[in-house]
Amino acid sequence: MKALFLDRDGVISLALPRGVYVLHPEELWLMPEIRELIRAARERDYLVAMISNQSVVGRGMLDLARLELIHAKMHTELLPERLDALYYCPHAPEEGCVCRKPAPGMLLKAAQEHGLHLGDSLFVGDNVTDVLAGTAAGVRTVFLNNAHNAEERRRCQPNHVVDSLGAIIPLL
Ligand SMILES: [Mg+2]
Repeated sequence: MKALFLDRDGVISLALPRGVYVLHPEELWLMPEIRELIRAARERDYLVAMISNQSVVGRGMLDLARLELIHAKMHTELLPERLDALYYCPHAPEEGCVCRKPAPGMLLKAAQEHGLHLGDSLFVGDNVTDVLAGTAAGVRTVFLNNAHNAEERRRCQPNHVVDSLGAIIPLL
């Protein structure tokens, strides 16, 4: 099976300004065309999974119960579409875990748990760390441009660069 991996902040949900985190369910808003992208992926037999760094947990700014509430709001907003799996890294950067992007740990774990063929899979992100994690895992990478990440774009070599989520559908 192949997968469409989606970063959360800036891909599934709207990116907040740098240094501002989603700490309450009401601060999470979906990106335009995310439902259309998920529907198209499902029609083409992709597993759809979130891959997200949530160091706000490890930094003590958010507990797991509230993170669950935020993800419950995300699931409700996405209906009738849905994500098949959520992977998030709760660790702070200094913990040296194997899951925090740019490490490929979450992608490798998803591949193991769902029997995925990573070479046929796609990872959509808006940050250099997404592209590095995807490349390290052998996944095709898609960089989603926004108003704030041109510098990030220059620091990595994604396979594809798009201006909207809808533009990813022909790449599936
Ligand atoms: Mg992001």
